[in-house]
Amino acid sequence: MGLFKWARTRSPWIIHFNTGGCNACDIEVMATLTPRFDVERFGIIIRGSPRHADMLVVTGPVTRQVKDRVVRVYEQMPEPKLVIAVGTCAISGAPFIGCYNVYGGIDTVIPVNAYVPGCPPKPEAIIDGIVKLIPKLRAE
Ligand code: SF4
Repeated sequence: MGLFKWARTRSPWIIHFNTGGCNACDIEVMATLTPRFDVERFGIIIRGSPRHADMLVVTGPVTRQVKDRVVRVYEQMPEPKLVIAVGTCAISGAPFIGCYNVYGGIDTVIPVNAYVPGCPPKPEAIIDGIVKLIPKLRAE
């Protein structure tokens, strides 16, 4: 069990979810995962299933269409799990706040552990946000 926890908290696997943004944040998240930034040195790997992920990386404001889906994805992740809001939309919903179909930031529907501001944020900022959460993953 100790070895399992040691391995898990030293290689945070992430899953990415766009809840309704303009896709520029998604392009930055994808750029972050390219060999240019070498995130595998931190053990960061993107996964396709929430059941294999430690961190949920969310971009975009929460829309009515995806609210239930993002909550379901969050609930399917094993404990301990952390959420990182990437971009101004995921943080507060802006500039889409006030639209009839937008709830706001991701913390209106699930708990958020880290916020990476920017429109869109640079890959360096996204990496910084994920790496800063690793000690929290160990503590949990
Ligand atoms: S924060 Fe900016 S770049 Fe990111 S999804 Fe929102 S509008 Fe697009």
